[in-house]
Amino acid sequence: MLNLRLIEPVTVVEDSQLAGEIPYMATEDSSEQLENLASGIRRCVACRLHESRRLAVPGEGPAKAEIVVLGEGPGGKEDATGRPFVGPAGRFLDNLLQNQGIARDRLFITNCVKCRPPENRTPRRDELKTCTSLWLERQLELISPRIIVLLGQVAARQMLGETATVSKLHGTMLERDGRSYFVTYHPAAALRFDWIAATLREDFEALGKLLAHAPHSP
Ligand code: SF4
Repeated sequence: MLNLRLIEPVTVVEDSQLAGEIPYMATEDSSEQLENLASGIRRCVACRLHESRRLAVPGEGPAKAEIVVLGEGPGGKEDATGRPFVGPAGRFLDNLLQNQGIARDRLFITNCVKCRPPENRTPRRDELKTCTSLWLERQLELISPRIIVLLGQVAARQMLGETATVSKLHGTMLERDGRSYFVTYHPAAALRFDWIAATLREDFEALGKLLAHAPHSP
């Protein structure tokens, strides 16, 4: 059973924490702390995924990012470069962001697991649990973003619970445990299905409106 509060786009923004009430925890050395986490991720052997990776992909973006974009796990291009969302799905994501005027420097982009699963299979439950508790949770604590954008079912279930369903929750803001989430499909799915591409565009339009009502941090 999900214990979530659904937030209607735009109308609830004034009353929600999106209006700027969340204090930024980032300090002068938070970039350094984030980089320390990245160094740890690059050396991590805590789950079986390290065996087949070329490069771990810690994520990238500013320590004071307003928005964290969270995917499932690195693909082939990411594994080869050590950078998140640089393949075809990443280009689609870039296009979605550009269309809404959302600058990349407002984002920290990362994944639930930091190493590519073999053959791009779905990360297993134990891999997700290990990687999120070791690394993702610490990244989120440091960055303390206003909104976490969840791309796809794996990210949605990891953050919102096992019964979360993207087809029901997409395009909406939710709160859980003091964090604000926006759920949508994974851009990789948009490359296979036109209807998902169209839905993603609509969802990012809704996200753009939400962000327009949530002023930038000073
Ligand atoms: S997926 Fe995460 S926990 Fe597993 S080896 Fe990579 S960094 Fe470590």
